[in-house]
Amino acid sequence: MRCLSCHQLSFYTFCKKCQDRLLKPSVTKRMVGSLEVYSFFKYQHIEDLLLTKHTPQGFQIYNALAKLSFKPFIKNFMKKDPRKLYIVGVDEHVKSGYSHVALLTHAMCHKNVKVLYAKLMAKNPINYSGKSLQYRLENPREFEYRGLCNIEVILVDDIITTGTTLREAKDILEKSGVEVLFALTLADVEV
Ligand SMILES: [Zn+2]
Repeated sequence: MRCLSCHQLSFYTFCKKCQDRLLKPSVTKRMVGSLEVYSFFKYQHIEDLLLTKHTPQGFQIYNALAKLSFKPFIKNFMKKDPRKLYIVGVDEHVKSGYSHVALLTHAMCHKNVKVLYAKLMAKNPINYSGKSLQYRLENPREFEYRGLCNIEVILVDDIITTGTTLREAKDILEKSGVEVLFALTLADVEV
């Protein structure tokens, strides 16, 4: 098959050259209120790949990106901090046969780490892309949490833009007695 980034022949979704040169995660941190948000890539850097969301090719691409970023992150994190943890993805609804956020959380399955799939769902199926901060604030996603309580979680989303979604998600989880340690996203639009 061909590398989905440079289109050269490759045994992998992304060839070794692209993995090393273009797709090496470089973690950036941003504060959203009191929430620490870590992102693996700059949005602009991998925009073409991220735009495959909700296409059949997107399944392969999000899966491969998750294995290059979320998977090594949790492995490393659990070496230093071996407590029992839970992973909650933001709004893991299925579109075109899969949930791209669930591909990210799935890559975090690990000893002592349990992924709670599709437990934090938005009741308002609004699309924020290209919308202003004011619009986002006036039209909340209205999350509903149906997972376990009294646990510690890492919150996961694909992209952070203004941070409104993660802020709302954190508030709902905390109202349910869940402690949000920090959030992880694949890409940050504003760095
Ligand atoms: Zn390549």
